Amino acid sequence: MAEQSFDLIVLGGGPGGYVAAIRAAQLGMRTALVEREHLGGICLNWGCIPTKALLRTSEINHLLRTLDRYGFAADNVRYDFGKVIQRSRAVARQLSDGVRFLMRKNKVTVLDGHGRLAGKGKLAVSKDGRPVAELAAPHIILATGARARVLPGIEPDGRLIWTYREAMVPPALPRRLIVIGSGAIGSEFASFYLDMGSEVTLIEVLDRVLPVEDAEISAFVRKAFEKQGMKVLTGAKVQGVRKGADEVTAIVEADGRVQEIAADRVISAVGIVGNVEDIGIEGTGVKVDRTHVVTDEWCRTGEPGVYAIGDLCGPPWLAHKASHEGVLCVEKIAGVEGVHPLDVRNIPGCTYCRPQVASVGLTEAAAKEAGYEVRIGRFPFIGNGKAIALGEPEGLVKTVFDARTGELLGAHMVGAEVTELIQGYAIARTLEATEAELIATVFPHPTISETMHEAVLDAYGRVIHI
Ligand SMILES: Cc1cc2nc3c(=O)[nH]c(=O)nc-3n(C[C@H](O)[C@H](O)[C@H](O)COP(=O)(O)OP(=O)(O)OC[C@H]3O[C@@H](n4cnc5c(N)ncnc54)[C@H](O)[C@@H]3O)c2cc1C
Repeated sequence: MAEQSFDLIVLGGGPGGYVAAIRAAQLGMRTALVEREHLGGICLNWGCIPTKALLRTSEINHLLRTLDRYGFAADNVRYDFGKVIQRSRAVARQLSDGVRFLMRKNKVTVLDGHGRLAGKGKLAVSKDGRPVAELAAPHIILATGARARVLPGIEPDGRLIWTYREAMVPPALPRRLIVIGSGAIGSEFASFYLDMGSEVTLIEVLDRVLPVEDAEISAFVRKAFEKQGMKVLTGAKVQGVRKGADEVTAIVEADGRVQEIAADRVISAVGIVGNVEDIGIEGTGVKVDRTHVVTDEWCRTGEPGVYAIGDLCGPPWLAHKASHEGVLCVEKIAGVEGVHPLDVRNIPGCTYCRPQVASVGLTEAAAKEAGYEVRIGRFPFIGNGKAIALGEPEGLVKTVFDARTGELLGAHMVGAEVTELIQGYAIARTLEATEAELIATVFPHPTISETMHEAVLDAYGRVIHI
């Protein structure tokens, strides 16, 4: 088999890999991308995008059930669950096809198969166990992503115990659902199923839901979930499950007491492990720490010429982090001037449950732990005209400033559409903005974004609308 030579090979076609390939092609590099399953990776096929399609449906279902608030009356409103799932899959397919188009447009050579390193600067591609290509390049980016972590005793079986994959294509709506893990993925599924009509119990081993968020935001979300009818258990450990014919019972320990909770299905959303197996890193300088490849600030591994980006390298497991790393890694390889390492504190995180959650930078607790003297601002949605006009008065914005310099250290939001708004604070973080620039910025009226201004004003004793 003739070896094919490139300037760069990318292993994995998720948002890390395909974006890296496009940027490399833009910079004039002859680029190959190897993908074994689906262009667009988890994000477009089984993650960000299909879940947002589902959550749009559950948001509409919630609105339909509360139409009278807006002066409507509608009888007999119902949904076809099969069509709900079909729409989500169609959206995923459309975007994956879009990535194939982008690869063609950018003249990236796409190889369909499983790739593994095969010696210095070489990568072997196989399909169904048979070799299909041998590739060579001075630079190889590993972007093989990650998959759901499995808890011993609660192994997903595809029928009663689901990972996110099965949870995204259920044959029917479970009447009673347990979600184990209240990170972004668990909270989004809990919210989706609750709004579609399931009875949902959300179980979290740590002391609060969305444990990476600011404690006040976690408390707000818990209260909102409970008000919506969700049962939330925190500081609760699932010791195991007992399976019946079409039912699961979770044995849960909380506050020194053991209780049994019966449900029709369980979603296990307890974390992520990197896809480090069978990619040929054994015997190379590529180091792995707790299932994730270790890299430096330029995404270099310990093996010269081999780089790693995205979920494969650990948290935060976010598509935009993967893409950003893809771009900076390629630009560094190409010798582009002015490339900056990624500051993890400037990566916004979003959770699309109801109410939505978005944040960037340090929580109040993390800022204090880092030694900052902090200045805190808060603004509730109830003081915002647009939020009330929309019928979305539940929300809160919290800002964390360095009391000494005025630097915005972190911003935390919960409420309608905050995932669309957090970018304003992310830009402020990138520009190292202080309260002075944020206060001097004009926010359009009436918008929910005004809550962002007010939360800054509040930190400096100048809040207007509360
Ligand atoms: C349910 C869910 C919801 C999510 N929602 C969001 C969200 O709203 N926002 C957000 O930012 N993130 C979200 N994420 C996370 C997001 O999907 C990931 O952070 C992102 O996909 C990581 O991109 P990646 O390119 O590193 O890896 P992946 O997207 O996992 O892509 C890796 C690709 O490599 C391929 N591959 C692996 N090994 C090989 C091999 N040896 N040979 C060939 N190909 C290989 C895989 O088939 C895959 O296509 C969500 C994840 C899940 C599961």
